[in-house]
Amino acid sequence: MDDGPPSNRPTCEANQLSDFPPDSFTIATFCESCGHQGQLDRDRVPDGVTVQQLPKLLRCSKCGAKEGSIRIVYTVAGGFRHA
Ligand SMILES: [Zn+2]
Repeated sequence: MDDGPPSNRPTCEANQLSDFPPDSFTIATFCESCGHQGQLDRDRVPDGVTVQQLPKLLRCSKCGAKEGSIRIVYTVAGGFRHA
């Protein structure tokens, strides 16, 4: 009798960066060493990279630390606003 893995895990865990179009999403980056924050420069990310892989590709432009963290920010929540 094999219980197998729990079935409540998502089957599709890899989301590519291209699943988050820049029109709608900003990728914020954080350095855990020095606290530097920025926005991901998508032009420097190779095609096919998943958001799960992304933190390993980051290198802090300030202190040079590897493996920052990211946050995907949905920028059109609530629709368009007019000032
Ligand atoms: Zn840093």
